[in-house]
Amino acid sequence: MIDLDYKSCKRLKDAGFPQGGTREPYCLKCEEWKEIDCLSKAHKIDFLVVPTLSELIDACEIKEGGTLTLYCHHYDIGTYDEWHAEMGYSNKDRDEEIGKTPEIAVANLYLKLNE
Ligand SMILES: [Zn+2]
Repeated sequence: MIDLDYKSCKRLKDAGFPQGGTREPYCLKCEEWKEIDCLSKAHKIDFLVVPTLSELIDACEIKEGGTLTLYCHHYDIGTYDEWHAEMGYSNKDRDEEIGKTPEIAVANLYLKLNE
């Protein structure tokens, strides 16, 4: 199961997220994480690392030396969740990003920290 969309993974790569782990195939023509049947149809495949939530958290904490807090606001109206990834530092500064899943919130935080 892949928890991040292609655009987020591409942005992470462009921001310098390590690409040493397993890379997942994404078909740019079908716009899906797959390659079965696509290579034989000459679809263009991009291979990207899809970090897990814990890998994203580690990358943020290693980068900044702070402590990451993850929490969810649940809104009954429209029934959607808004995840907050907040990095706290010893000098009481904070960086925060949001997302509709915990993975996306932490990925957005990583992107912000690596701008
Ligand atoms: Zn395809």
